[in-house]
Amino acid sequence: MVIPYVNIHTHKGKECTDNVRSILNQFPSEWMNKKPVGWFSVGIHPWYINSGDQASEELVNMEKAFSQKGCIAAGEAGLDKITRTDWELQKEIFIQQVKLSESYHKPMIIHCVKAYSELLGLRKELKAENVWIFHGFNSSLEMAGQIIGHGCMLSFGEQLLKEGSKAETVLQKTGVEHWFLETDDSDISIETVYSKAALITGKKEDEIKSLIQDNFNRVFQPDLPL
Ligand SMILES: [Zn+2]
Repeated sequence: MVIPYVNIHTHKGKECTDNVRSILNQFPSEWMNKKPVGWFSVGIHPWYINSGDQASEELVNMEKAFSQKGCIAAGEAGLDKITRTDWELQKEIFIQQVKLSESYHKPMIIHCVKAYSELLGLRKELKAENVWIFHGFNSSLEMAGQIIGHGCMLSFGEQLLKEGSKAETVLQKTGVEHWFLETDDSDISIETVYSKAALITGKKEDEIKSLIQDNFNRVFQPDLPL
């Protein structure tokens, strides 16, 4: 049997095929309008929080989505020190999402910009147990170690294609059991990301596919295993 590629985080509407299984990212109201087929994650991205009222409405939509079959993850959600969204509001809405994802047992896709210590601090404070996947990871090996030490995972995407990126170093030095691969909002294919990961780690692409498949089946509870 051919092992499918897993794309852990994408904003592009490609549905799952026999060869590629994707988790399509959805903002809650976007999900309400589209109701995509296949696997998806639903969450409130810090960039798109306009007010407490709007976010509260989105939290209600999010909970509706959580009871749907294809919804296998929460997110992307997180904290961003560069965006204009009010910091306290970001934190408040993130905490609500963590609580929701814990009660529905959904792993979370995490958006993090210059807020690693705050996020890991919140994870500890809230005693969150679901796996958090820090997506688009492109930080230091030390930070990767801290994230893993908190029971979280990493996901790498187009940064791997940039020669000499931090992502490249971390990928090379971190066991496959700790990471996933993704395309996020880029136009590159997931096949390209896998073949670059194979090149960097010196492993066969099929081995990476099989190890990531194991990660997937361990972390998520899809109705249909890969
Ligand atoms: Zn994204």
